[in-house]
Amino acid sequence: MKTPFVSKDQLDQITKEFPTPFHLYDEKGIRETARAVNKAFAWNPGFKEYFAVKATPNPSILKILQEEGCGVDCATDVEVMLAKKLGFKDISFTSNDTRAEEFVYAREAEAMINLDAYEHIAFLDEVAGLPETVSLRYNPGGVFSLGTDIMDHPEESKFGMTKAQLLQGYKELKAKGVKNFGLHAFLASNTVTNDYYPTLAGQLFELALEIREETGVELSFINLSGGIGVDYSPADKQNDIAVIGQGVHEKFDQILVPNGLGKIKIFTELGRFMLAPHGHLVTKVLHLKDTYRHYVGVDASAVNLLRPAMYDAYHHITNISNPGGKVQVVDVTGSLCENNDKFAKNRELPEARVGDILVIHDTGAHGFSMGYQYNGRLRSAEILLQEDGTAKMIRRAERPEDYFATLYGFGLDE
Ligand SMILES: *Cc1c(COP(=O)(O)O)cnc(C)c1O
Repeated sequence: MKTPFVSKDQLDQITKEFPTPFHLYDEKGIRETARAVNKAFAWNPGFKEYFAVKATPNPSILKILQEEGCGVDCATDVEVMLAKKLGFKDISFTSNDTRAEEFVYAREAEAMINLDAYEHIAFLDEVAGLPETVSLRYNPGGVFSLGTDIMDHPEESKFGMTKAQLLQGYKELKAKGVKNFGLHAFLASNTVTNDYYPTLAGQLFELALEIREETGVELSFINLSGGIGVDYSPADKQNDIAVIGQGVHEKFDQILVPNGLGKIKIFTELGRFMLAPHGHLVTKVLHLKDTYRHYVGVDASAVNLLRPAMYDAYHHITNISNPGGKVQVVDVTGSLCENNDKFAKNRELPEARVGDILVIHDTGAHGFSMGYQYNGRLRSAEILLQEDGTAKMIRRAERPEDYFATLYGFGLDE
């Protein structure tokens, strides 16, 4: 059973003020999760969560996280610009296949640079010079498994560098005068287990010892990156960040502390875990259609939430207008001229009637941000449900003018 963070009465009020579809975020939940993450790692004095901006690049959301002590991880110069405009001090820059201008900009912005490739050491040095602090992204290859469960296939991932490259990289960086070093790895995505971070941490802590042995470099920080998942499906177990933090703590005490590396700071770059459960895509039923299946047509589409179309991802749906309705098996569809524009397939849902409001759950991360404008469908507004229970618009919906803006003067007259 998954329950929306907003009540029917609240949503009736909100939809009177703001037309559907829109993304709704829960300030209270966001703060609670940020505090739980900070508490879980409070044993590590240098701990910092660098929220992955790409998950939810909205200034009001980022400000809330800033107030809770988070930094930000940016993948592009534009994301760094956003972070600078918001006054973030703790900015990391984890990009790949990076343009020279972006490294130059990241250096000027004093973002902490995390290099994806061994080849980027020479490139960064040439185009922007090496900063005092450099982090390297590791890819161990093979498969990443927990016990007998294969979690992901790093060998197929374009990210990170091999161990030999990593060791060579630290040697070269040290020889070139770099003073502080970090290690980063992101080996599995959306993990629904409390063992991912502790297992990853154990591997990286062992590697930290090897790095010191082989290169003389003592790491300043180890970045466990993202990858902690959420319970998209009611069948999934929720991760317990307190247990996860404790598991990393145990590895830290077993491996690093006895070897004199107890000063290493732990960083995380969580996106999904921080925000996904605290967002809903709120949409209205426009049409019902019966052919070979029963279709519930809504006013949102894949441009508002791409994950179901792109990954066949499950997002739970609640019919908040008719929760006790007779259960029917339906496909919930958007309006794009693409048959993959379905939020649910063969899903059991209480009877949906034209005008009903549906809540699509867990859209707070990689939801709005993966949006696009296919078919001339424009991006929706984002609304924040504040701690005092009132709702505030934190991004307006796009208008046709926004869609035309890049075309004026190019065959289109204003
Ligand atoms: C996407 C990304 C994250 C966040 O991943 P989640 O699965 O949302 O936690 C963190 N770090 C980097 C480098 C990323 O690309």
